Amino acid sequence: MSYLLEVRDLVAGYGNFRALSNVSIVVNEGETVAVVGANGAGKTTMLRAILGQVQVHGGSIWFRGEDVATVSTSRRVQQGITLVPEGRHIFPSLTVRENLLIGGHARRSGPWTVEKVVQTFPLLEPLLDRSAAKLSGGEQQALAIGRALMSNPSLLLFDEVSLGLAPVVVKQLYATLPEVTRQGTTAVVVEQDIHQAIAMSTRVYCLLEGRVSLSALSSEINKEKLTEAYFGAKV
Ligand code: ATP
Repeated sequence: MSYLLEVRDLVAGYGNFRALSNVSIVVNEGETVAVVGANGAGKTTMLRAILGQVQVHGGSIWFRGEDVATVSTSRRVQQGITLVPEGRHIFPSLTVRENLLIGGHARRSGPWTVEKVVQTFPLLEPLLDRSAAKLSGGEQQALAIGRALMSNPSLLLFDEVSLGLAPVVVKQLYATLPEVTRQGTTAVVVEQDIHQAIAMSTRVYCLLEGRVSLSALSSEINKEKLTEAYFGAKV
């Protein structure tokens, strides 16, 4: 069985600090995999390591059958990996349209264009020529996802989409995920809300203190075990 992404025994961190110890996950093409875990568990570090933004001390990151662990971030983006970063990092001095066009700067071929993004996130349509600084948090998040899609990724990493957003807005944003995967993009979604993570994914990994503490199909998840894996002790 060949996976779209296979992270094997990944060790990564900052300076001498090991934020991830022997983390292994696999992602099949077309699925939506959720990664949950408490603050500081290593979720962001794992996504950033997959994209090449964190120092990797050991292990391998196989993407489409090639170990990309030592490949530059820009090359990984060209190969089809893109990140929607925590905190969105949109360009506030540019318009919504310009932000989207920047996302498509080194675009691969595929279905995602400004028109397709606006079709998927209709709330962006009347805002296209507005300064991105003037957007609400939910609109900014939709823009951040749209900008990432503009590169036509085959693997899209979402980091804490729900951060600081009202539950109704989070629901609207996650409602677009099936369309994203239908267009050929596989999703890995870091999410702190366990219920949300289970609801929108096919499989769930839980990280605890830099290690995988649980891996399960979302349809078969044992919520008691997941809670234990999340907090590290029976609660
Ligand atoms: P959160 O939900 O709070 O974002 P997380 O699961 O994404 O948490 P990470 O941000 O990956 O966790 O952090 C994992 C560990 O690495 C934490 O102990 C954190 O303090 C540490 N860490 C994260 N970024 C840095 C950094 N730039 N320099 C040093 N240590 C860092």
